[in-house]
Amino acid sequence: MAGAAAGVGRKVAAATLNVSTLRMRALVIDTHHLRVLERLAFVGGHGSLTRAYDRVMPLLPSAWSAADLDAHHQLMKRLGQTVCRHHRPLCHRCPLQDLCPTAPGYGHRPRRA
Ligand code: SF4
Repeated sequence: MAGAAAGVGRKVAAATLNVSTLRMRALVIDTHHLRVLERLAFVGGHGSLTRAYDRVMPLLPSAWSAADLDAHHQLMKRLGQTVCRHHRPLCHRCPLQDLCPTAPGYGHRPRRA
């Protein structure tokens, strides 16, 4: 996706391409998903949705279908809504805790093997 259409943000453009009958490979990133990406240091703090899309989309497996990308987004969004919440993330419940450089800042240490 080269860019969003005039007057349409990247999230809406990606959603239109991915979830509609077009079923094109385009990752939807909303604010919950973006927060998780920022805390995992995939994108810098206060990253924009556009920069996050450009950073993450090339890293996802090329074999993933539009449905796979939608499933990935839904899981990341749910993680952001329920565990990696804006206020007081629940790092001790997060499946990504061992990979996350932000978790210690919230008082959680990586699990030991
Ligand atoms: S470990 Fe904590 S800060 Fe890191 S992604 Fe999980 S909930 Fe968010």
